[in-house]
Amino acid sequence: MQADVFRAWIAASARVIEEQRDHLTQLDAAIGDADHGINLSRGFTAVLSALESAAPATPGAVLMLTGSTLISKVGGASGPLYGTAFRGAGKALGDTADVDLPGLAAALEAALAGVQRLGAAREGDKTMVDALAPATGAFSKAVAEGASDAEALTALVDAAQAGAMATIPMQALKGRASYLGPRSVGHEDPGAASTALILAVLRDAALAGP
Ligand code: ADP
Ligand code: MG
Repeated sequence: MQADVFRAWIAASARVIEEQRDHLTQLDAAIGDADHGINLSRGFTAVLSALESAAPATPGAVLMLTGSTLISKVGGASGPLYGTAFRGAGKALGDTADVDLPGLAAALEAALAGVQRLGAAREGDKTMVDALAPATGAFSKAVAEGASDAEALTALVDAAQAGAMATIPMQALKGRASYLGPRSVGHEDPGAASTALILAVLRDAALAGP
């Protein structure tokens, strides 16, 4: 996977965030402050123009610029968290021009580590970690077992979607939703939902190829 695949992934993320902006905001209205879709939409719009003007040449540079832009343009908790995730992934890719499955697995592991270092959420706390951690785990396992691109990426997306759904019965222990205590139960976490969307378009971009 070369830089164009990563650019296509980010462009597709911006599109799906735009399409799902109101849905993500409604999820956040139930257990937060009704801005998650708006935050990500603002962030990814800024990312698109940053990628257009800087035209980074490597996969790592595409993800680093994506992350830095999200950190600087998104005010909510999700901006620094997603920003750190993309920057961590980009840093893990280094200056390689062509990313293979193990490289992508290492990048996703670095993204997860960055989110957890910054936000200190564990699995079960009802955050984006509940989508990203099982997705990363399933992907790394599939890659280690020699799965094809399609199998490994499908495992990634299936685990992310199941992880997002599994946040519904959880009580939030991190972030704004935790202020609601037991009243946070019964709603999907918005950040877990957006993570599942972003990973689904990663699969599509990676399988579509250059
Ligand atoms: P804010 O909470 O500042 O309004 P957003 O609404 O954009 O920011 O994002 C909320 C999402 O951020 C939550 O649904 C959750 O997934 C994620 N989140 C919040 N705090 C944390 C944390 N400490 N660790 C991981 N994810 C978190
Ligand atoms: Mg919010």
